[in-house]
Amino acid sequence: MKVKAAILQEFGKPLKIGYVDIPEPGDDESVLIKIIGAGMCKTDIRLWKGEEPREGFRAPFVLGHENAGIVEAIGKRVKGISLAIRSLFMRYGLI
Ligand SMILES: [Zn+2]
Repeated sequence: MKVKAAILQEFGKPLKIGYVDIPEPGDDESVLIKIIGAGMCKTDIRLWKGEEPREGFRAPFVLGHENAGIVEAIGKRVKGISLAIRSLFMRYGLI
């Protein structure tokens, strides 16, 4: 499945709006959340400028780790979450 995202391809340069592949939840513990709102905080700005290097972070990646959405699919081993639950979560996405 492809989703629309603001992609940091080069530190300090404008983000590129594009599409990235995401996996469907399968037999594992993953959850697919349809994003309905995404914020960018000071951490995102520092990461975008390359002022806050973190281990494992390399371009390209998707900024905006403070998100809100609705659970659309869950892995078979997920417990305590059901479809259509509204969710707030924080995560960065390497692509
Ligand atoms: Zn933040």
